[in-house]
Amino acid sequence: MSAISLRNVVKRYGRGPAANQVIHGVNAEIDSGEFVVIVGPSGCGKSTLLRMVAGLEEISGGEIAIADRVVNDVEPADRDIAMVFQNYALYPHMSVFENMAYGLKIRKIPADEIQARVDKAAKILELGPYLKRKPRELSGGQRQRVAMGRAIVRQPAVFLFDEPLSNLDAKLRAQTRIEIQKLHQELGITSLFVTHDQVEAMTLAQRMLVMNGGRIEQIGTPEEVYQRP
Ligand code: ADP
Ligand code: ADP
Repeated sequence: MSAISLRNVVKRYGRGPAANQVIHGVNAEIDSGEFVVIVGPSGCGKSTLLRMVAGLEEISGGEIAIADRVVNDVEPADRDIAMVFQNYALYPHMSVFENMAYGLKIRKIPADEIQARVDKAAKILELGPYLKRKPRELSGGQRQRVAMGRAIVRQPAVFLFDEPLSNLDAKLRAQTRIEIQKLHQELGITSLFVTHDQVEAMTLAQRMLVMNGGRIEQIGTPEEVYQRP
């Protein structure tokens, strides 16, 4: 089964003669459980592509399917995805538990189900002892894990990561990268991860989509992409 299908996806900003086309008919199939990294220079359209998968940006042409369902007209909340951003603003006045539970509460998930999901996520992320603390009482790494916890509890079919490591210092970046890898190993959730950093891409990717100027130039494993004759 295809977790994500991109079929001749086009994006234009603006209308008419002044329109600026930034994605030029992108095609890709991402398998269920795969960890795929979209890599390429700043401005090549990575973030726009990810935001179209998330439903945060309208698609100008072509088709995007998630779990074999075309989602062009589906609201972000109904897409079975969870997105992890670079600025992972937590609610400062809420506890760790409340931060992780909030997205479920507004979706009217029953309290005992919320408790079970948060407990499970806290266990995976080793946040169990901190559930009653406020974000300011946590280290940077712990806060980052709470942000991931919020995504996990949604139990989405797909994780979307938009440069989540780019504003972190080197130590925290390395820690968080390992955390993301561990998460993928344990949960096996299909992941689409955007970065401009080639080293990061090589370390994380099972497969890479190399973008340039709004097009995919190469698709393959890191070995295939970087060891071309
Ligand atoms: P990347 O994520 O690879 O850095 P983006 O997807 O952010 O690239 O941007 C791709 C192109 O689309 C860039 O030329 C950018 O200026 C343009 N762009 C992005 N968002 C908008 C917008 N809201 N309106 C107009 N142009 C945009
Ligand atoms: P990043 O690449 O880190 O996502 P940017 O500074 O490129 O951040 O973009 C920040 C915001 O500005 C995004 O919401 C993007 O859609 C928008 N944006 C980017 N380029 C343009 C543009 N040329 N015109 C209008 N909005 C833009």
